[in-house]
Amino acid sequence: MTSASAPPTSGAAAAAPGSRPPARPAILTVDDDPSVSRAVARDLRRQYGERYRIVRAESGPQALDALREMKLRGDRVAVLLADFRMPAMNGIEFLEQAMDLYPTARRVLLTAYADTTAAIDAINIVDLDHYLLKPWDPPQEKLYPVVDGLLDAWLAADHTPVTETRVVGHRWSARSYEVRDFLARNQVPYRWYLSEEPEGARLLAAAEASPDALPVVITPDGVTLTDPTDAELAGRVGLTTSPAADFYDVVVIGGGPAGLGSAVYAASEGLRTVLVERMATGGQAGQSSRIENYLGFPDGVSGAQLTDRARRQAVKFGAEVLTARDAVTLEVSGPARTVHFDDGRQISAHAVVLATGVSYRQLAAPGLDEFTGRGVFYGSALTEAPSCAGQDVYIVGGANSAGQAAMHFARHARRVTMVVRGSSLEASMSHYLIQQIAGVAAITVRTCTEVVAAEGDGHLERLTLRDNASGETETVDTQWLFIFIGAAPRTGWLDGVLTRDEHGFVLAGPDLVVDGRRPPGWPLDRDPYHLETSVPGVFVAGDARAESVKRVASAVGEGAMAIALVHRYLEKR
Ligand SMILES: Cc1cc2nc3c(=O)[nH]c(=O)nc-3n(C[C@H](O)[C@H](O)[C@H](O)COP(=O)(O)OP(=O)(O)OC[C@H]3O[C@@H](n4cnc5c(N)ncnc54)[C@H](O)[C@@H]3O)c2cc1C
Repeated sequence: MTSASAPPTSGAAAAAPGSRPPARPAILTVDDDPSVSRAVARDLRRQYGERYRIVRAESGPQALDALREMKLRGDRVAVLLADFRMPAMNGIEFLEQAMDLYPTARRVLLTAYADTTAAIDAINIVDLDHYLLKPWDPPQEKLYPVVDGLLDAWLAADHTPVTETRVVGHRWSARSYEVRDFLARNQVPYRWYLSEEPEGARLLAAAEASPDALPVVITPDGVTLTDPTDAELAGRVGLTTSPAADFYDVVVIGGGPAGLGSAVYAASEGLRTVLVERMATGGQAGQSSRIENYLGFPDGVSGAQLTDRARRQAVKFGAEVLTARDAVTLEVSGPARTVHFDDGRQISAHAVVLATGVSYRQLAAPGLDEFTGRGVFYGSALTEAPSCAGQDVYIVGGANSAGQAAMHFARHARRVTMVVRGSSLEASMSHYLIQQIAGVAAITVRTCTEVVAAEGDGHLERLTLRDNASGETETVDTQWLFIFIGAAPRTGWLDGVLTRDEHGFVLAGPDLVVDGRRPPGWPLDRDPYHLETSVPGVFVAGDARAESVKRVASAVGEGAMAIALVHRYLEKR
């Protein structure tokens, strides 16, 4: 089984969304005669009821339905006892199909008289463990010793219950990757199964899902979602997607460090606060494998850990955190600021903090678009690191984010090659990171080099690199390319509402006052506050702000400062 899990959440395991306590393993018995069926179940329950769940069915199809449901819930099945002569489906046919779902469950056939043909068939077809004659009175002599032996044999193998969300998909499917990335970044534990491996196929069979409609997500309570949207997924794995109220003191848009900083300070200072995040809280910082320069963490901290703590802190203070909600319009009507979501819903507030950060810039070269999510990834795609074990990985970019990724992937990959357009790393990367990279033998840095093409059949298989000094090109075999070439703000939806610079970053405070003139349409008899945009009561914090310092600490600081200014705005309206 290929399995991968979201990074463990410290201290949150018991309450983690998308998981549940394991159920007792089951012993399933199926007999079409209701009185016999009840008698078997009664005898089994008396002896094993404390440690095992006894599941009873009165036909093969009914028993298979029960098994499918248990499979989807991640339950374990230890023993199957099936009557041989049943009208719709005989015991051998049932056991044969049951094996497709639970191949390691021990199998027993029950018959009313010695039917040697049935026994031989069962041994050949379903690898029968035992053959029991009815009646089995007294059970202490005829039934329990057999079942005890089968349970001992079953327990001897590893049957760890699966209590997490499960994802079944293709290795090279962009949407399968996005679903796993969404779960991982939201700290939802999950297991990943390739559709072509046995357990993946069994789960698809239990879900009666077509291998053509992937990914399939199975929640811990056994609900199957076929190719779900992020919002559907979020709702099913325990993330909050709908606001509890229509009106708040402050709406924070974006759940990176700036937005989380705002939410923590706003909620802790008594403001009714909602934070809206389109994908997963943490933002860019949540994708950083190790942040070494954040105050108070001398040994570094993973971005996911840092931002998960911040999210829990915000929630502890009473902030609502909505996930998988994209803010698409900001409407200003009188004193109210209304944010519209992609699903048509809206919320209003006295004030808004825009903390929408930046998103990765796309690299333009033939083939890259086609293979995005199928071997070509933007950002560190930490979920993919274990899949790169023993393979060659290429990383494009020469800044800190690329350097951190190289260090991270070097722990798994055979070789990591950094493809850097400039002539050295010195101009773009922190000194400490350059030194760390130089100390790792598995990392090679190719300067003055660019990726000029990508090729493959269904997924990335080859890259063409060009040496800009010599003009020579070289084709290399690889299935993994991670791109970090800077980022651009996602602020197109604010067009016509507030003032942005030529790159789309939001202008605020003193940057809006040109030659002593306030921004066009500014209605108040004062200058905009420091982080206030050209719309009073709408503030911007973090990477989305024009001329901001692109750092976690400054984003958090601006988030906190924006709330101090929200208070000032609310007092002086
Ligand atoms: C791999 C990597 C490593 C880094 N390492 C470091 C480091 O070691 N030290 C350091 O100081 N800095 C580091 N940085 C930079 C740092 O992470 C950023 O400066 C910081 O995250 C900016 O925070 P932010 O909240 O302004 O924006 P972001 O972190 O970009 O968060 C913005 C959030 O807003 C959401 N959003 C955007 N638009 C909408 C919308 N319309 N509706 C709802 N939500 C929306 C996004 O999904 C995102 O979650 C790193 C960055 C990366 C990518």
